[in-house]
Amino acid sequence: MPVLSCATGCPRLISVSAVPGGNPVAKEDPEHWAMIYGQCATCKSNYCDRCIEKSGSKNCPKDQTPLTMLGPVPLAAPTAPPSQPTATSTKPWWKFWG
Ligand SMILES: [Zn+2]
Ligand SMILES: [Zn+2]
Repeated sequence: MPVLSCATGCPRLISVSAVPGGNPVAKEDPEHWAMIYGQCATCKSNYCDRCIEKSGSKNCPKDQTPLTMLGPVPLAAPTAPPSQPTATSTKPWWKFWG
């Protein structure tokens, strides 16, 4: 999986996961893995969520560019339960009267 390091030099690595909900390894070890991070469009630096929180600002410390917050792909919305009533009529509505 692609991994980024935090530009402040902190020991956390940033997991860039395409897995919905984030990489399970990163999720289990938040001390060493960040899944939410900010990216600076100007200098392309990445900052983990904790360092952003610590700095108290969502701007890049180097050039004050507002960071773009990125994170794991959200889990897919739960699908409707199968018990959900579905339209069983095969008759098109426009033929309702005839
Ligand atoms: Zn920057
Ligand atoms: Zn950091």
